[in-house]
Amino acid sequence: MEIFDWKRLLLNDLPPNFLLEVLFRSIIMFTVLLLALKIAGKRGVKQLSVFETVIIISLGSAAGDPMLYDDVGLLPAITVVLTIILFYKGITWLTGFSPKFEQFMEGKIQCIIDEGEFSLESIKKESLAQDEFFLELRIKSIEHLGQIKNAYIETNGEISTFYYPDDQVKYGLPILPQLFDEKSEIITEKGIYACSFCGNIQEVTTNGGICENCNKKEWVRAIKTIRIS
Ligand SMILES: [Zn+2]
Repeated sequence: MEIFDWKRLLLNDLPPNFLLEVLFRSIIMFTVLLLALKIAGKRGVKQLSVFETVIIISLGSAAGDPMLYDDVGLLPAITVVLTIILFYKGITWLTGFSPKFEQFMEGKIQCIIDEGEFSLESIKKESLAQDEFFLELRIKSIEHLGQIKNAYIETNGEISTFYYPDDQVKYGLPILPQLFDEKSEIITEKGIYACSFCGNIQEVTTNGGICENCNKKEWVRAIKTIRIS
């Protein structure tokens, strides 16, 4: 084989008018995919569950090859697409019978904030990407966890938040970087602090303190500002 052989590199030694066939192949596969997703009943997606992501990847891979390769026929690819869609419909139908199966396929809603602190469930897992979560909250104009009564990670990965009314906002862990990054084990002034790991609120003296909730020792001065959106 010759390296940088332009004829092979650009056209894989196929005649130039194969490009016309590529055009035809692409239009067919595009139409098949479009119809398949319509049959699947997807109205459009903002974010996909794991199950749906697998479906989309499989469809994309099945549709791509016959667009490009001269030795891949359209019918096997169309059969793959139809099989995946039937499988998807079948699984979706089955999840209607068993909540457990549905949970396995679509994931489970996870409570992440409970009454202004990280929920026990989310602390135990320790798998929570705190940075990413704080980012999502800041986008919603949240300054500290005390403004949130409950927050959930939905099965599509989105975070839903439910707020305290202004007069019930509690002391909470600040999530603005200029405040959060001040977290320290050394306390220079006695006051109300928030555990930087779990958001638990405690009075901490200059001797420092251990979080009653998660046994960690880093604190951030708690704030109680109301939410302005
Ligand atoms: Zn803690």
